[in-house]
Amino acid sequence: MAMHETEDNKMVQRFKKRIAPEPHQVVRYCRGGSPLWVSSQHIPSDQDIPPCTCGAKRIFEFQVMPQLLNSLCVDSTGASIDWGTLAVYACSASCNNDDQYCPEFIWKQDFSSDRLTQTQPS
Ligand SMILES: [Zn+2]
Repeated sequence: MAMHETEDNKMVQRFKKRIAPEPHQVVRYCRGGSPLWVSSQHIPSDQDIPPCTCGAKRIFEFQVMPQLLNSLCVDSTGASIDWGTLAVYACSASCNNDDQYCPEFIWKQDFSSDRLTQTQPS
């Protein structure tokens, strides 16, 4: 338990450090790179990301940051929408799917619940 909290803490600190220069950023684009995770928990493995409908592998393309929630003015408590980060994976072959819209794959990661209790103002 303590081990996993430390691991998670490191991840949150890393996240905060990386976004500090531009704290209001809502999207981070890095095709073929890795998302900046907000937690050490619930990170997808390669097997969790389904291939594109054309058969090619899907790769990370961009992520939606939690700061967007502020701009949307949503109430993040209760039944409202909430996320830590949303990672979007798209076709590595950039297929055009006959010029039709096609669904991509999104992975939702939340801030860990341990972390939320730790960040309560003292
Ligand atoms: Zn494809």
